[in-house]
Amino acid sequence: MTNTILVTGGGGFLGSHLCESLVEQGNDVICLDNFFTGRKENIRHLLGKPNFELIRHDVTFPIYLEVNQIYNFACPASPIHYQHDPVQTTKTCVHGSINMLGLAKRLNAVILQASTSEVYGDPSIHPQTENYWGNVNCIGPRSCYDEGKRCAETLFFDYQRQYKMAIKIIRIFNTYGPNMHPNDGRVVSNFIIQALLNQDITIYGEGNQTRSFCYVDDLIRGIILMMNTKKEFTGPVNLGNPFEFTIFELAEKIIQLTDSKSKLIFKPLPLDDPQRRKPNIDKAKSILNWTPRVELEEGLGKTIVYFEKELKKGNFSIA
Ligand code: NAD
Ligand code: UDP
Repeated sequence: MTNTILVTGGGGFLGSHLCESLVEQGNDVICLDNFFTGRKENIRHLLGKPNFELIRHDVTFPIYLEVNQIYNFACPASPIHYQHDPVQTTKTCVHGSINMLGLAKRLNAVILQASTSEVYGDPSIHPQTENYWGNVNCIGPRSCYDEGKRCAETLFFDYQRQYKMAIKIIRIFNTYGPNMHPNDGRVVSNFIIQALLNQDITIYGEGNQTRSFCYVDDLIRGIILMMNTKKEFTGPVNLGNPFEFTIFELAEKIIQLTDSKSKLIFKPLPLDDPQRRKPNIDKAKSILNWTPRVELEEGLGKTIVYFEKELKKGNFSIA
């Protein structure tokens, strides 16, 4: 069946890949974005297609459209970007969710929320399972995002209980790939750009902290599977790649793959930076029949090719 689908944050890294897949599947796709961190370049190739539309709009204000599925992805995801205007970040998470849930309620549409592993904060259990309630500082520099996303999950479940709506929540773990903004500031893009320019690679802290990196194509497949689960299934479901690496190991791997002359330098660890992160994906495996397929080396290779092209276009600087 063809759907009419709204993707908020559709001009961003993940949103643009999602729009592309949904358009390729033959759906009518409306991409909504205020272009705070997204780029028209990410979706330019879709603009001429009859089943794709772009709306510049801020989700913190209501909007009236006719769709039967909503993917709510609007929100800056990189720590430097969500901390740039933290009040707006909380508004985007909370007011944005209220507006999109209200829209879904009026239309009887299914709505999926892009939640995050950040709802687990600096986790005291490892790997993180969906029934873990998290360890989050509610007054720190990451709180606008962490608590904003937690409140969004609360709103989704309250709308579901109160109005019997079809909601879906995915908790996304660190994902990387083409279409990341060159100034994104997250670790994979920073390290690749630094390596390609033979600049110092900035490790925050001693580099012993871990993350588990998922390639974007794997994630998008999981997201669409989740949207199309039966009405009663809400999640939350973790989506991410369970292979865990230290930030130090990631830096070494990127230097090796780019054949770079970069040196490692150590900078202070940001406040409340989670020490370990790795998803337990048993739920995604059993319910969605989903498991990531792309290994780190392969995914990094494709991402390096993307950033090399960006470099040639002169779109480079480090945030
Ligand atoms: P991104 O910054 O590239 O994309 C976010 C998009 O939302 C951008 O296009 C931005 O312009 C848009 N946006 C921001 N505020 C908006 C507003 N008020 N109104 C309309 N549009 C707005 O980040 P991303 O990595 O693509 O993340 C997309 C979603 O996935 C976010 O909700 C993020 O929290 C979630 N997520 C991503 C990751 C990851 O590793 N990439 C991990 C966990 C969760
Ligand atoms: N990091 C780093 N150097 C950088 C950017 C990030 O060492 O140039 C570290 C950061 O402190 C964190 C990890 O890499 O421990 C992942 O950071 P990112 O901003 O990508 O995402 P997070 O998972 O923290 O939201």
